[in-house]
Amino acid sequence: MSASSCTLPNDTYQDGLPLIHGKNLSRSFHGKEPIVAISGLSFGISEGQITAIIGESGSGKSTLLRLIYGVLGPDDGEVRYRGWRVPNPKEKLIPGHDAMRMVSQGFDDLNTYANVWDNVASQLSNTDLEAKYSKTAQILKRLRMAHLDKQRIADLSGGEKQRVAIARALVNEPEVLLMDEPFNQVDASFREVLQRDIIDIVRETGVTVVLVSHDPAEVLSMADKLLVLKEGHLMAAGNPAVLYRQPPNAYTARLLAKSNILSQEEATQLRIEASANIAIHPEWMDLHENPSSPFEVLDVRFKGFYEELLVGDGHLQVRVINHAKDAFPVGTFVDIQVKHAYPFH
Ligand code: ADP
Ligand code: MG
Repeated sequence: MSASSCTLPNDTYQDGLPLIHGKNLSRSFHGKEPIVAISGLSFGISEGQITAIIGESGSGKSTLLRLIYGVLGPDDGEVRYRGWRVPNPKEKLIPGHDAMRMVSQGFDDLNTYANVWDNVASQLSNTDLEAKYSKTAQILKRLRMAHLDKQRIADLSGGEKQRVAIARALVNEPEVLLMDEPFNQVDASFREVLQRDIIDIVRETGVTVVLVSHDPAEVLSMADKLLVLKEGHLMAAGNPAVLYRQPPNAYTARLLAKSNILSQEEATQLRIEASANIAIHPEWMDLHENPSSPFEVLDVRFKGFYEELLVGDGHLQVRVINHAKDAFPVGTFVDIQVKHAYPFH
């Protein structure tokens, strides 16, 4: 029986509460040295939304995803799904919450020698062959891979395998889809298509998506909510645009925007009066050539339609985005005009 078909205990879950709720969650690993992967984490994940777990490598993202799914048990605290505690692997014959499906990194679950159709169809029971056929056809079409149905997994690109893995997870119509770095194997040109497909599937079906990424830029546009992790701690949670413009701490500002973090004293070098440390995103500055300025262009990185410049005066270095190609070659002296800065209080 799936947890979602149980009668709900009124005292723990009501409409309006997050679908998934973590409370004081902790998990350590005991290798040569004990590692605290997740530490005292509390969070909420809303139904029908895309929540992205982001953070640098080793910050505990995959561990958190596995705790949510229930394939890993917490040392402390709990995860609740619709008010019910998610059972840990020892309490369940088949680990993993019945209402959820997980697409992990790597493609261990796929049958390499079988074709795409069979890999997806095998997730469904044979009790209703008509439904099995139509559901498989529908999800393959939805993920733009109907034409690949006879291809063996072994002959697919990484990005195509990723779509098969997602199709396999979705064909059973789970309430929650968990994905660990789903865009890693997908080449840049196709990444946005897949992101769009996932957004559309969420809007159409109401499935709740939780996805992990170490590259916030790729999920900023698609997530409704971000959970920002650092060394197992929750550094920020909220709307991506708000966290981008008003990062609550330096870690979040650097992760989301590659922001420059300046002390009060450094801020005065850029003629800013600040009462605290400030964040200046690279696109929050303009440069103007001025031979008598102490600031010099130290490095220019070509990024396509913009350049990323490193500008410094021997003490302070800042990263600046410039759209006028070749306007400021290395060695040019420039004034830095700060258009916007965000203080940390
Ligand atoms: P992320 O997904 O953010 O890169 P992980 O959740 O995989 O981070 O890992 C968090 C920390 O826990 C890391 O230091 C990692 O080495 C450690 N860790 C994760 N899984 C295990 C494990 N099974 N055994 C020992 N250490 C682990
Ligand atoms: Mg990981």
